[in-house]
Amino acid sequence: MRKISLFDTTLRDGEKSLGITLNAKEKLEIGRQLVKLGVDVIEAGFPAASPSELEAVRTLAREVKGAVICAFAGVEEREIDCCADALKGAGQPRIHTGIAISPVYMEKKLRLSPDQVVEMAVAAVRHARKYVGDVQFYAEDAFRSDRTFLVRVLEKVIEAGATVVNIPDTLGYATPWEYSEMISYIMNNVRNIQRAVLSVHCHNDLGMATANSLAGIKAGAGQVEGTINGIGERAGNTSLEEIIMALYTRRGSTGIECWAKTREIAATSRLVSRLSGVPVPTHKAIVGANAFTGIPASFPEHAPLNEALPFEMIDPDMVGMLGDGGFLNAWSGPYMLKQRLQELGYSLEQAELDLVYQKFLQLSGCKGDVFDEDLHGLMGDAGVAGNGITVKNISITTTGVSRATATVTLDLDGDTVTEAACGMGPVDAVFKALDLLVGERVYLEDYMLKTVGRGREALGDATVKVRYGDKGLVIGRGISTDVIEASARAYANALTKVKTIIRENTGQASN
Ligand SMILES: [Zn+2]
Repeated sequence: MRKISLFDTTLRDGEKSLGITLNAKEKLEIGRQLVKLGVDVIEAGFPAASPSELEAVRTLAREVKGAVICAFAGVEEREIDCCADALKGAGQPRIHTGIAISPVYMEKKLRLSPDQVVEMAVAAVRHARKYVGDVQFYAEDAFRSDRTFLVRVLEKVIEAGATVVNIPDTLGYATPWEYSEMISYIMNNVRNIQRAVLSVHCHNDLGMATANSLAGIKAGAGQVEGTINGIGERAGNTSLEEIIMALYTRRGSTGIECWAKTREIAATSRLVSRLSGVPVPTHKAIVGANAFTGIPASFPEHAPLNEALPFEMIDPDMVGMLGDGGFLNAWSGPYMLKQRLQELGYSLEQAELDLVYQKFLQLSGCKGDVFDEDLHGLMGDAGVAGNGITVKNISITTTGVSRATATVTLDLDGDTVTEAACGMGPVDAVFKALDLLVGERVYLEDYMLKTVGRGREALGDATVKVRYGDKGLVIGRGISTDVIEASARAYANALTKVKTIIRENTGQASN
């Protein structure tokens, strides 16, 4: 069997393109789960982008062991220096540097001649090699580049010390046969290609990212790049879980494998969805809620029941999509809660468990049986992450149609504060009161409310997307049996994140 390396870029290409800023704690949680999933490389971020991004990559490099930790840069020395700084604590550091090489990008975006591009690419790889032994080079927009020039660039950067060369289809423009042909061309024409690993990086604009990546792997690539749930710019990146299951399911005919732990897929998918605020479509391959429901219409009516269904090529248990996990209730002790949470992919420190257990008791008091979905909701709740802003009390008065006054009491960094505000409906009034209390200038970009869990008293699960300054977006999440409270918690969670980012980026001491 030929083993393929899995390169996860959820935290870089996935995150950046959504405009979302994940903080160090969130990145760390995803990083740890990716190690459980068994990916070989974790691209942690772009350290030169901002001080908080630098800090997040630094934390991940220091804390996450068991995978190569990669940091992203352009060809500028300053950006590469930032990567080296961020990766100091990493056991297996890798710097990912690169430049665009297609005629249109070189001319319009970079305003550089091909010779200048080669020179800069080589200098960047050499510079990165001063810090680390493992340097990956990306040839941006490689698919639309001139083949002779592509070969020239790759030979030069491998000569300069690149250990991995990444051949992106930046615009998601390729078809599987063309991409396969290009990878074969590189394998056959780059003289020193055996000294580096060839990596495929595809985008899903034509819905072919997974197909193109597999075609590239078949043609000789040794590494595949992707994101969990396929999140990313425009139509997204290659879905890593699709690659993992395609390689696993068809390993018999391809002779190609990866070493992922497939049973961690569902937990990883849920975590990324929860922290990125991007829901997984119900029909999404491998991780969608409906991915394993129903039997094809062609199922033979009289097939013996004791035979495994011929159409169920993937057992839902194989990807960790647990069936009915039963339920817990007020009589379930903290040990049972801890065990169930572990089975669902959450590992908690004792202090966190205590906090979650209190919330669990409150919840089972309100709604009786607590199902797996409720537990996922509970874990997504803002308070678990250690919030600087806690909603203590809310009271609402409505007058006429859709006018409301909200009085909100918060625990704000240890002080109890109260404020009232009017708005169009109770949620708007609550958000305005929170704005007054917290005093950050933010803009509410999106607000979603859905129910999670089963039973008559399903939980309200609120997600807000909040823009601050021109720097970016944060996601806030809140869960409660009361939808107004869930909304308030979500907004408070987002405001906490904004406060932290602003504090970190203005260079003040953070805790
Ligand atoms: Zn990309």
